[in-house]
Formats: sequence, structure tokens, C-alpha cells
Amino acid sequence: MPLLSLKSISKNYGATPAVADISLDVERGEFFGLLGPSGCGKTTTLRMIAGLEKPDTGTIEFDGRDITNLPAERRGFGMVFQNYALFPHLNVAENVAFGLRARHRPSAEIKERVKSSLELVQLPGYEKRRVDELSGGQQQRVAIARAIAIEPALLLFDEPLSNLDVTLREETRGELRELVRRLGLTAVYVTHDQEEAFALCDRISVMVGGRLLQTGAPRELYEHPAKLSVARFLGRNNLIQVMRLSSSNERTGEFKTLQGGHTLRMSIQPGELAPLNKPCTLAIRPEHVLLRQAPDGQDNALPVEVREIDFAGATSTVKLDAAGLLLEALVLQPNSFAVGARCAACRAHFTAQRMNLILGPRASRPPGVVRRSAVGEEQLAKHFSRFALIAGGTPALPAKL
Ligand code: ADP
Ligand code: MG
Repeated sequence: MPLLSLKSISKNYGATPAVADISLDVERGEFFGLLGPSGCGKTTTLRMIAGLEKPDTGTIEFDGRDITNLPAERRGFGMVFQNYALFPHLNVAENVAFGLRARHRPSAEIKERVKSSLELVQLPGYEKRRVDELSGGQQQRVAIARAIAIEPALLLFDEPLSNLDVTLREETRGELRELVRRLGLTAVYVTHDQEEAFALCDRISVMVGGRLLQTGAPRELYEHPAKLSVARFLGRNNLIQVMRLSSSNERTGEFKTLQGGHTLRMSIQPGELAPLNKPCTLAIRPEHVLLRQAPDGQDNALPVEVREIDFAGATSTVKLDAAGLLLEALVLQPNSFAVGARCAACRAHFTAQRMNLILGPRASRPPGVVRRSAVGEEQLAKHFSRFALIAGGTPALPAKL
């Protein structure tokens, strides 16, 4: 049984739908991420979990109990906000003790817990400090200590690191992950930062416009985005518009690119083909576009011209033009390429295993699979992810929803 379950949660502010029909499960001990652009409804979702907002529809269950109408202070959850939300008139110890006092814990226990919590966030001996004498990073540590001091049944984080500078953010991120793991806590972590979500979370739900688009482990989301919006949101991707050719057979899908008119081939599973005459998208990550000499006639090897090289330190992005199809390749050493080089020798080679087929949002069902009208969005997403997985040709789990 999952520790936390959101079942068809919706919330509107006046006419604005902030969260639309969200369902998700968080397992015990999991570090779960809600990732999405600003304004997509992450904070609203977290506040509903915390009990600070009431959903218009749907239910929230925790440990098998319906807590939809349970007041925030009776949920026993710890919360850490972006702006720290410390009490400026209280010192560090008083801030950390706040939740314990509210729970009328004996003073000896409060003292002990404050001490151990401050040790956990690496601020031992800071009890008497005023919070306005602390740096941003230290204030956020105090906020984390305050949240863990109550031994929360669930930890909720709302972009807790976004006010810290890059180095401190990465450092604190590592400590936070380690701390939550060591204490065996369950966490829901809200962020708009993909890298942060990938580094911290066991599983992530990608949220856009109040809806959950896909839930899965970071790697699964990155390698098998089930929808175009997920592929676009998570890192860079070459999204190639294609149509399936009737020359495809049971094992090999053949696609014509709408730009450049190239033929791309990838293996598929018997009986599962993208629909004919409907545009779909092949997604391939820049790091999987290989620039190398390939013999004529080799599958998926396109002659390219180098348009631009963006040097970014450890890696460079090489922008390519394959007869009108614009592509990006990520390389470690750009030395062997020059802008304007037009080489028969220089070919962008895609490995078929690294390509994902994504059906467009309006693409109709492929033959022989569940009818769209008969299933919900959730089922459909499963179906899409299955497609991505099949087209990718590598065995992987379907996205968990
Ligand atoms: P995020 O945390 O992902 O940036 P929010 O949950 O804060 O998004 O907001 C989702 C949407 O709901 C936004 O359009 C926002 O303007 C709106 N919203 C959030 N809180 C309120 C509020 N208290 N009153 C009216 N609209 C709100
Ligand atoms: Mg927010």
C-alpha cells in the first residue's frame, strides 16, 4: 500500500484551474519529485498534501486513512519552503523547537531534539544565534532542522534550494538526499529544476498546466518520454517529424522525415506499428547523434553540414543541417569539426535503440490496441509509454502512473 495517495485531486482559484485531476502514489521511504515549469500547480498540490489548501474534488489518503479534511497541524508533516519562513524574532533553537512546543513535548526532549536536528544539518552549537545573522544556506538548514525535529511522517519541500547560489545549492542538495535517506523519511519535493529533480528523486511526476503528464524514475522519463511535452521539457532533444512508410514490416518501422526526406529505420515489435499517414515524432537526444564516418547505405546515417559549434567547456553542441533537417549533436571533443564543413565523410548516425517514437497528441490509436474513448488519460499515457518503449527497442518498464 502506498504511504500517500492523491486520487483525482482538482483545485480552482476562481475561474483559474490550478490543479486538474491529479492522481499519484508515493511509496514509503520514497523521495518523490513534482517537476514542472513555474505556474503549473506544484505549490498548490503540495499545499493540498500539507492541508493548507482544500481540494475542490478528490481525496488524499495517508497510510490508508482519508486525510482530505484533516487540519494541517494534525497531519504531522514537516514542510520546508523556498523563502525559509523562519520566525525572525526567535533564535535558531526556538525556531527549531517551534513544532515540538506546539505538540507540547517535555522540555528535556525538546532540548535534545533541537540539538540532534542541528547536528544533522551541520549547524551544531548554533542554538543561540539570531536567524538574521545567518547566511541563506544556514537559514535553509535551520528550516530543514525545524521540519525534521518533529520526526515528520512525511517531509514536504517547496523549491527549498532555489534561493541559494549554485555551489551551495548542489552541496545542500547532496546533504539533503543523504539526510532523508539516513532518517528513512518519505519526501515529496517540488522543483522546476530538472537537474535537481534527477539528482534527488527516486521517482518524478512531470506536471504541466495543472496536469500530470508522466511519472517514472528519472532515467525512464529521460530515455522514454511518453509525450512530446515531456520530451521537450526534459533536457534537449532532436524532435524529428516523420510519417511511417508502408514499406515497414512486422519487425522494422520505416519512417520518412518531413524535413530533408530522409528514411529512418528502427526495430519494432510484431503487430505494433505507428499509424500510416499520421505525422509522429522520433525523438533522439543530442548525445546519441554520433558524428562519424559511415559507409554509404548504412541505416540512419545522414550526410550533414556543420552549421555551428557551441563550446560549453566539457562538451560542445554541434548544430547540423541534413538537407533541411536541423539536428544537434553533443560531443566531447569538437576539434575534428569545423563550421561549414560539408562532408560526405561526416555523417550523423543514429542508433535505432536510442530513438523514441512519440505519437502526436492527436494521433489516433494504432491498430489492435485499446480504443481511446474506452480508456482514461492514465491508460492512454501507459499506452503511449509502451509505444516509446517498443520503438526504442530496449527492454524497460512502462511508466508507472
Ligand atoms: P507553481 O508552484 O507550479 O509555480 P502554483 O501552484 O503556485 O504553481 O500556481 C498554479 C496556478 O494557480 C497559477 O496560475 C497561479 O497563478 C494560480 N494560483 C496559485 N495560488 C493562487 C491563489 N492563492 N489565488 C489565485 N490564484 C492562485
Ligand atoms: Mg511554486
